[in-house]
Amino acid sequence: MMNALTVEDYIKLEDTLGATTYKPLDLVIERAEGVWVYDIEGNKYLDCLSAYSSVNQGHCHPEIVEALKKQADKLTQVSRAFRNVELPLFFKELIEFAGINCVLPMNTGAEAVETAIKLARKWAYTVKGIENGKAEIIVCENNFHGRTTTVISFSSEPAYKDNFTPLTPGFKIIPYGDIEALKNAITPNTCAFLVEPIQGEGGVVIPPEGYIKEAQKICKQNNVLLMLDEIQTGLGRTGKQFAFQHEDAVPDVLIIGKSLSGGVYPVSAVLADKSIMGVFKPGEHGSTFAGNPLACAVARAAMKVLLEENLAENSAKMGAYLLEKLQNIKNLHIKQVRGRGLFIGIVLDEPARPYCEKLQQLGILCKETRSTVIRISPPLIITKDQVDFIYERMAQVF
Ligand SMILES: *Cc1c(COP(=O)(O)O)cnc(C)c1O
Repeated sequence: MMNALTVEDYIKLEDTLGATTYKPLDLVIERAEGVWVYDIEGNKYLDCLSAYSSVNQGHCHPEIVEALKKQADKLTQVSRAFRNVELPLFFKELIEFAGINCVLPMNTGAEAVETAIKLARKWAYTVKGIENGKAEIIVCENNFHGRTTTVISFSSEPAYKDNFTPLTPGFKIIPYGDIEALKNAITPNTCAFLVEPIQGEGGVVIPPEGYIKEAQKICKQNNVLLMLDEIQTGLGRTGKQFAFQHEDAVPDVLIIGKSLSGGVYPVSAVLADKSIMGVFKPGEHGSTFAGNPLACAVARAAMKVLLEENLAENSAKMGAYLLEKLQNIKNLHIKQVRGRGLFIGIVLDEPARPYCEKLQQLGILCKETRSTVIRISPPLIITKDQVDFIYERMAQVF
């Protein structure tokens, strides 16, 4: 029998055998349930990252896991060379859920963003009438849309793009939250504006009130597609099912992922009106695993849980409660505490990592983003007592 591995053994194995593209906190997680995760030494932590908002429904939600198991016994993958019984039902339920009438399924978030870019470009040439090769997409500084070569091409973060050149052209970067900048950046060759309603990786940056609604108006006036990346902000995270609903705005193209599967399986999707999505013809886009029946069954269960457990509403309630409590913590190093729903950022004037390490010792898992911001985004099933648990430890650390 093999001796049990220690934390140090696991860390050494991971870091010597694998590419070190992440700098994780040094705990080794073995199982999780709801808001709690457990490491191999039996320590218990309240998860305030939710796998970058991919387990909004809580870890290992029994209904989602059950859907996975049931479907896995029946049919897992057929590819879209043939039809399957789960796919159209997934489409129907997602369309009802999001209020946009056509779906293109993908697997990861970055793939869905890539899909939206291709959609916008094809629309530019075949509908808007932009001269071939000239289409431009406007994006924002400090954005995060994923890690593929094209997507990092329009990142403003040097670490994401340096030495990965040559980059994909066709993007224009403007300041986030600045409507005038958007107006001025649009040219006859602009086909789309791709933006996060709240910047997640960028540090939970909330734009001025009415920004998305105003952007929608300007896009419409100029025949430009408004493409919202709600991969992190969507599915209840900010206190509404989608962040655009805070402003009574509607995107032309909606990109979702992460909690679309409750963290059980990678599932993403692009939604758009059929009149836009219709530019894609058979053979022009695809992915072997996209829309597989296992993914569809899991996503259907994940959406059902969001709705039945009123998780967006709980996110609004618990988020407001936690935000207020955190805003009352007095500490010289806290510059700002901001948030919407259970999507909260504590902005410091110094590195956040040591705070995250201290919080880990007290049973709270969070991860710094943009080095000086602590993001707090626990699963949306969190209770008031559990919010108090977070607050007490935050207060202690500060
Ligand atoms: C996580 C994220 C992505 C990328 O999703 P992956 O599944 O990691 O490829 C894109 N956009 C936003 C806003 C995200 O938070």
